[in-house]
Amino acid sequence: MDFESLGLSEPVLKAVSDAGYTTPTPIQAQAIPIVLMGRDVLGTAQTGTGKTAGFTLPLIDILAGGRARARMPRALILEPTRELADQVAQSFDKYGKNSPLSMALLIGGVNYTEQEKLLDRGVDVLIATPGRLIDHFERGKVMLTGVQIFVIDEADRMLDMGFMPDIERIGKMLPPLRQTLFFSATMAADMRKLADKFLSNPKEIEV
Ligand code: AMP
Repeated sequence: MDFESLGLSEPVLKAVSDAGYTTPTPIQAQAIPIVLMGRDVLGTAQTGTGKTAGFTLPLIDILAGGRARARMPRALILEPTRELADQVAQSFDKYGKNSPLSMALLIGGVNYTEQEKLLDRGVDVLIATPGRLIDHFERGKVMLTGVQIFVIDEADRMLDMGFMPDIERIGKMLPPLRQTLFFSATMAADMRKLADKFLSNPKEIEV
């Protein structure tokens, strides 16, 4: 199995090869074609499995091949912690370096001004922790009605940290017709029930 057979475009493949990756990890081999097809995903995967590239690479491909909607984010990636959000943002920059997409990292603990400047200018992708995203929303700085792809990453940690009410609230701000990718390190019955609220006919992936 190689990256070329997964259906990714040339700019993304070039970024993957520049990153030094030669073989997709199992989650990447499973997730990438499914995400490219536009299906929802219910993924059980831990960090360290290559999960981030598993959803970021096809997301970049879909957005880069589509049409930008003026000043409206087309993808939203939620992470439970600032550190994880920052790591995903770094991955996004690495994998998206040949693709004309802009991104804003919306995390707490830093000044609003820089984040608001980016939001005013308009970005394609938001990578956020739930609290800060809601803050920007309440300040009237972010519109979520253009979001086509919604990623809930590390859902079990979101649950542990008490973020589920925030995430349900955010879910209601998004268009119902969208693609949703839901990842958790564990997938017990309560997690499935939660995932059901966001997903529509998902393809299940487990690694
Ligand atoms: P993640 O689980 O997404 O946090 O990725 C874990 C680490 O694996 C990161 O440091 C990635 O840069 C690296 N990685 C992801 N995909 C691959 C791959 N196909 N080949 C080699 N390394 C990879």
